[in-house]
Amino acid sequence: MINNKNTKKILAIRGMNDILPLRSFDWGSLENILFKWLHSYGYSNIRVPILEQTSLFQRGIGEVTDIVEKEMYSFRDSYNDDSLTMRPEITAGIVRAAIEHNIVYERPRRLYSLGPVFRHERPQLGRYRQFHQVDIEAIGFEGPDLDAELMIMVSRLWKILGIENVKLEVNCLGSYQDRLNYKGVLLSFFEKNIDHLDEISKKRLYSNPLRILDSKNPILSSLIEKAPILLDYLSDKSLKYFDSVCNFLKSNDIPYYVNNRLVRGLDYYNLTVFEWTTDKLGSQSTVCGGGRYDNLFSMLGGKNIPAAGFAIGFERLVELWNFYKSPSKIEECDIYITHRGLIAQKLSFNYAEKLRDSGFKVIVHCGLNDSLKRQFRMADLSNATLAIIFGEDEIENNFASIKLLRLSHNDNVNQEKISLELLIPFLKDKIKK
Ligand code: ATP
Ligand code: MG
Repeated sequence: MINNKNTKKILAIRGMNDILPLRSFDWGSLENILFKWLHSYGYSNIRVPILEQTSLFQRGIGEVTDIVEKEMYSFRDSYNDDSLTMRPEITAGIVRAAIEHNIVYERPRRLYSLGPVFRHERPQLGRYRQFHQVDIEAIGFEGPDLDAELMIMVSRLWKILGIENVKLEVNCLGSYQDRLNYKGVLLSFFEKNIDHLDEISKKRLYSNPLRILDSKNPILSSLIEKAPILLDYLSDKSLKYFDSVCNFLKSNDIPYYVNNRLVRGLDYYNLTVFEWTTDKLGSQSTVCGGGRYDNLFSMLGGKNIPAAGFAIGFERLVELWNFYKSPSKIEECDIYITHRGLIAQKLSFNYAEKLRDSGFKVIVHCGLNDSLKRQFRMADLSNATLAIIFGEDEIENNFASIKLLRLSHNDNVNQEKISLELLIPFLKDKIKK
């Protein structure tokens, strides 16, 4: 016995979840569907580190954003004093990797990544401190066709998952110059109404007035409604671009709403931005968000490379999918082997290997002193199709007793004796893959 005086339970960090087996099973199923969906559009997987230099996110996401101002898990590496950050999103890491390895040297690339991200937010249902994103990035494409394809892709995903009533909102943020013009107009509007702003908006007034439009404070909503609209300050070129995106959506029968207030929380977007929302997940209604980010490469020290992408919140997607899919049941194995006595246990291990060679999923009961009753209980809980029983009689006479745990309509007995030579064909007949 280890003599440890401190026996207080250690719990997970707030907002960071354990994904227990039944949920993890759903996660795995969803991941497989997502990979197939992404591959059907020619996307390739990329994996980038979870830890990056803090400056990557400061420069990439922007200093005056919720994420960089208050949500990042950053710390000093005590070995070399580097300032490091647990990634709060995946795009900046992928862009850094794309610059570092010059991966769009020959041709544009369609890339995706799925993994954990970290934000120090107030945890609540649908909002966590460690959550997962499916991140899709199309790098090196400059036209509105690509922007539209991203939305066509997402709309296909809803169909694949049987998810209904999701709403697509789109907006055009124009070029850097368009936004500069608009920022001036917006600034003088908010200056005139400064008494109606909350503290955080006052702070943002001179650093990033656009961000005020993103505010979730209900007190500001009527003021924000009256604010000038970016669309009115877009250049003809930007308007033409937006028009083209919308036309692609129309010709693909994708319903959308133009939301002039949609600015998205990150600094790097330009031209097209979009979000998909649902009314099934309470106040955490955004399941997917993205847009074009033509300036991010140069902001991170790369060449001028146009790009666009989006991220889906994996936890929110699983939650939403659960409203539409049938409940899951994990079948831990096809065959559960029970036994009586040490010789039978040894034989079970040998036999289980043969069954696995034939493609079956097999659990051999472990626990030498367990009664058959307990072993059958375990077999039931594993959701196996059948249990095999090995005992002295079976070993001496070269057969296995079979107990069918889930009878189908043409099974009239639930227990049978099968000679070992005939066992595999018998099992193949009962356990159809
Ligand atoms: P929100 O408006 O909900 O804060 P966001 O604009 O911060 O979202 P993005 O940075 O665009 O979100 O991230 C992409 C997706 O990740 C979101 O659409 C959402 O589904 C999901 N997401 C964002 N923050 C969280 C979180 N704290 N916990 C779980 N999922 C999240
Ligand atoms: Mg957020």
